[in-house]
Amino acid sequence: MERSVDIAVVGAGFAGMYTIVKARELDMSVRVFEAGTDVGGTWYWNRYPGARCDVESVEYSYSFDEALQQEWEWTERYAPQPEILKYAQHVADRFDLRKDIQFSTRVVSAHFNEDTNTWTVTTDANDVVTARFVVFATGCLSSANRPHFSGAESFVGDVYHTGEWPHDGVDFSGKRVGLIGTGSSAIQSIPIIAQNAEHLTVFQRTASFSVPARNDSIDLDYVKDVKSRYPEFRKANRQQTGAFGSTIRRGDSSALDASEEERWAEFERRWEEGGFAFLSSYNDFLLRKDANDLVAEFVRHKIRSIVKDPATAELLMPTQVIGCKRLCLDTGYYETFNRDNVSLVAVDTHPIERITEHGLMVNGVEHTFDVLVYATGFDAMTGSLLKIDIRGRNGVSLADAWHAGPVTYLGVNTAGFPNMFMVSGPGSPSVLTNMIMSIEQHVEWITDCIDHMTKNKLSVIETTEQSQAGWVAFVNAVADMTLYPSCNSWYLGANVPGKPRVFMPLIGFPTYVDKCNEVVRNGYEGFVLA
Ligand code: NAP
Repeated sequence: MERSVDIAVVGAGFAGMYTIVKARELDMSVRVFEAGTDVGGTWYWNRYPGARCDVESVEYSYSFDEALQQEWEWTERYAPQPEILKYAQHVADRFDLRKDIQFSTRVVSAHFNEDTNTWTVTTDANDVVTARFVVFATGCLSSANRPHFSGAESFVGDVYHTGEWPHDGVDFSGKRVGLIGTGSSAIQSIPIIAQNAEHLTVFQRTASFSVPARNDSIDLDYVKDVKSRYPEFRKANRQQTGAFGSTIRRGDSSALDASEEERWAEFERRWEEGGFAFLSSYNDFLLRKDANDLVAEFVRHKIRSIVKDPATAELLMPTQVIGCKRLCLDTGYYETFNRDNVSLVAVDTHPIERITEHGLMVNGVEHTFDVLVYATGFDAMTGSLLKIDIRGRNGVSLADAWHAGPVTYLGVNTAGFPNMFMVSGPGSPSVLTNMIMSIEQHVEWITDCIDHMTKNKLSVIETTEQSQAGWVAFVNAVADMTLYPSCNSWYLGANVPGKPRVFMPLIGFPTYVDKCNEVVRNGYEGFVLA
């Protein structure tokens, strides 16, 4: 193995994989370290039953290679996890990416050396590699959040986390299962676990809004049409706020301007259509609480009409702003609570007290089961970065630099950490977009920057405290114009006790891309190059 490379990359998900492709175009040596045994990132780890993407298949794929996007055949409207993983493996084979990836290897530290302007990357296998540049392609939802409950070690049954699911699957037949959480991962897995388990008890802290995905076999005529104009289709998607959904009909008026009958009919149409289009019927759901209340009430009405037991329906009724946590897409989620073998326990006013040998205690009552599933999400956007001992100038750690919350410029770099790049880091649109579109844009920006530095014989690039302070303020000012900060979402770090409350993703992909391009046109404005 080479001891010195141009670019060291952490993570072999879609971001790390594309970084190899771009580094090779620049004729640069690249080494990727990946904790898993194969490529795929999120889609390698999240193998829980029912895992599938909530962005449509024809959109959730690389756009950089026309032959690749023509040859790959998706089978469903929303691709299931095994198919996305197969796609990632296909890309790795097609571009012979694995020869630059060291699998089953976790990066434990990355330290900047100010004498040589290089990074020293050390792994848990004691590999030590020096690199001119380090790229963290560690993913936004890759560090499992396992809340600490007292007595957790005493539970005698099997324990799983949706984000770290066993490769050979889990057989729930004949088992009593306890599942904590009702976010997207829970909402996808609950209907399937319920079909297999003897009994499923769901522990819900906050009820989520979910709308039908209406997943189905892919419409082959639609695929044919998209493939006949793929570059144009991608371009149209990149012009959307979330870099996806150019085919979604977007209402351009306020929900408050429509009559109640018109609104209700429109909500019904969109409920039947399925997917994120549901929240696009009017243009002010995430801007005005009174508009938001109208569509939130429609979903509550649906829950009441689907769930037969009124007490269970009442518990499932979300009260927060719809959309300020990521909207969940489901297949039979609310219907699952009509099954005799499924029960729901609220743990909001009476939180989980402790885990016992055979279950867990809530409000003095022990709920028993054989298997415990944590569907408790992730330490999002910063978790995987902060698990690594990253040190920049003067040995300052990233954890110290970010003690009050992540500070970046454009979500790609942090002051004091020269030649260090993050793909879809905090402060970039990332999780509010089709991730693969964001990843492509980021990796291209980063590798263009590296190319610029090489051609101009520059050895160091880093942002300034001033640039990043302005950027963080901008990201939060944009969020504050919306209803996003109104609930305790992982966008704000609010799901992890003690995590600073900062709105991390930037809303608005096209504006962000314009800004990134403008920064380059102005000679990497906001960065210092030496
Ligand atoms: P999540 O949305 O953060 O949900 C975690 C769940 O665990 C929440 O219901 C949370 O309750 C609960 N929880 C956490 N700590 C708890 C505690 N101490 N006691 C009781 N309950 C607790 O995580 P996720 O479902 O894994 O989804 C994360 C994100 O991944 C999604 O928002 C989405 O962006 C992405 N994702 C996408 C898909 C898809 O493409 N379809 C599927 C899965 C995930 P609170 O709400 O009260 O915090």
